[in-house]
Amino acid sequence: MRRALTRCPSFVSAAGSFVALAFVASSACLTACGSKARPPQTVAPTLAAPSGVEKAALDTSVSPCDDFYQYACGGWIKSHEIPSEESTWYRSFSVIHDRNEETLKDILEARAKGDVGDDTYGKALGDFYATCMDEAAVEKNGLAPLEPWLKSIREVKDPASLTKLLGKLQADGLGMVWQFSAGQDFNDATAMVGMISQGGLGMPERDYYLDVKTPKMVELRAAYAKHVADMLVLAGDTDVKAKAAAKVVLAVETMIATASMSKEDRREPKKINHPSTKVNLPKVAPGVAWDSWLEAAFAKNVTSFNVAQPDFMKAAGQMIGGKVSIADWKTYLRWHLLRQNASELPARFVDEQFRWRQALTGAKSIAPRWKRCVRATDAALGEALGEPFVKKTLGSDGKSTVVGMVTAIEAVMHENIEKLSWFDESTRKAAFLKLGKIANKIAYPEHIRDYRGLIVGRESFITNTINASRFEHGRQINKLGKPVDRAEWQMSSPTVNAYYDAQLNEMVFPAGILQSPFFASSAPASTNYGGIGMVMGHELTHGFDDEGRQFDADGNLKDWWGPAVNAEFERRASCVKNQYNDYVVLGDLHVNGTLTLGENIADLGGLKLAFKAMKASAAKLAPSPSRGEFTAEQEYFVGFAQGWCGKLRDEALRYQVATNPHSPPSLRVNGPISNTPEFAEAFSCKPDAKMVRKDRCDVW
Ligand SMILES: [Zn+2]
Repeated sequence: MRRALTRCPSFVSAAGSFVALAFVASSACLTACGSKARPPQTVAPTLAAPSGVEKAALDTSVSPCDDFYQYACGGWIKSHEIPSEESTWYRSFSVIHDRNEETLKDILEARAKGDVGDDTYGKALGDFYATCMDEAAVEKNGLAPLEPWLKSIREVKDPASLTKLLGKLQADGLGMVWQFSAGQDFNDATAMVGMISQGGLGMPERDYYLDVKTPKMVELRAAYAKHVADMLVLAGDTDVKAKAAAKVVLAVETMIATASMSKEDRREPKKINHPSTKVNLPKVAPGVAWDSWLEAAFAKNVTSFNVAQPDFMKAAGQMIGGKVSIADWKTYLRWHLLRQNASELPARFVDEQFRWRQALTGAKSIAPRWKRCVRATDAALGEALGEPFVKKTLGSDGKSTVVGMVTAIEAVMHENIEKLSWFDESTRKAAFLKLGKIANKIAYPEHIRDYRGLIVGRESFITNTINASRFEHGRQINKLGKPVDRAEWQMSSPTVNAYYDAQLNEMVFPAGILQSPFFASSAPASTNYGGIGMVMGHELTHGFDDEGRQFDADGNLKDWWGPAVNAEFERRASCVKNQYNDYVVLGDLHVNGTLTLGENIADLGGLKLAFKAMKASAAKLAPSPSRGEFTAEQEYFVGFAQGWCGKLRDEALRYQVATNPHSPPSLRVNGPISNTPEFAEAFSCKPDAKMVRKDRCDVW
């Protein structure tokens, strides 16, 4: 599980965070911030030698002052198709991800053949990947590996046995109805508490159940009901029984959705901060037999909790206590057991699950098995896999250049805070303190995670996966009651993403994203700052966005803002909210300015900070292949925009707007650009140009 307040720069957010990860899908970073398929044939050859601006990606028939995204990306958009297995395709993220997956494939194929190199966990990596690739064994095993759980579900007879089973399923990594993990106490960032948060849905978000006005949502609900029924038929039910079961599943999940907190409210730390002792849990959610659940989840010694959504838990207790019949619960649990394990089951289940993903995202074909196995291995053994990946990919001088850039961007932020006219002195002092305490993690962890105790064999893919889930649950439980591990990483080093963590007050940039076109030691400073520099500025700004600013230098949820400064921040943030609420991206589909506020503030701040750092950089004037045609300032802005060139299928765009806190790619460029006077100056845009907003928003 990822912590609640982690923020990613990409279109994907962290899996398991309260933000629908989507990038992932219900909590889904795109699954894990990146389980997307990337076909190799679309790797742009022009990126092989990083040269800063990619001229072929431009559309010079459009004025940069009219539509900068189209100007910077129009050529790329015209010449690239979304690969059939994809629902989105990005010039930067997807291409790097694709390249990384090819590298990981080479590593894993060698480990599977027994060449474990000098890796700490080479054998486990090879065994895990090999069992995933062994489709014949997966087919032969059929549903048999799930039989122990199916039996437990059949044996549920009353609320007490149901509660106990929910605890056991949680311990097996199969959280249903609600989720449990370890997290920092919002009020005391030095303490770890048990985090109990809402869950239990099979569709990505509560709106998918409750929105009765949008025809597409109604259509998707029908597609989901069909999917549930079809999966149950594959598992042996008759048509009639499966259809009736699907109705039950929809009814139970709709009750869960109705009790769920909205995605907008989940972005507000104060709304999800409800500390509770173990003794007090029955008062928060009276219907749950907590002692029994905690014992089954191996958490009976945990004494401190945060119940993120108490109203949800109260409703869950009522549902367990009788509002939903035991027979209906059994149907629900059986469905979720199949759903959560479908990717480890025979092809007919995998294909059916893909058909549902298709309805959601528009992808045309399923990713090849090796890609799915690379992702599964990364999810189970990410840090073990990161070790050989980093050795293979990161140049020796790469890390030091990146460290220098982060320092330069932090220096610009310091200067900004010093000059902010709307700050009072005590808030300024507190902001300096917070900035000074930000920790940076770059490329890879100092020490890789200890995977001893995780049993990985050559016999069964699903057994390996469940062992990994159990191991992860044990790791979470083990954190409770101990000091916070400040060295932990929430993403594996091959991940093409980055994050800011408000409770640890740290920024993390995995090796996966420290690559061309975001960054190359040989690329000009202008485009490196427009690429990875802007990502760094984006993460840094998260520390001071509408959410991050509520945490102090030590990661505690504590107000450090003077009242007048606070009001002025709110005024500035609402300018950004209104700007994005006004954007229409598909038919009459508006961007959700509230959901995307933090990311949009971070985009705006990141663009500004990295530009100033580039200007201050001595390397700015170093020659670049496009200099002469472009100034360093223009290269910076084009480099930035080209980092976000992307295409989305209509379904994927809808999915993103409904669930993802990041704005669609064209707005991640034109949104911040049109608020940035340095851009207008660099391209000599007239004051009435489309890319120059009259009421420009300025937060940081
Ligand atoms: Zn972000």
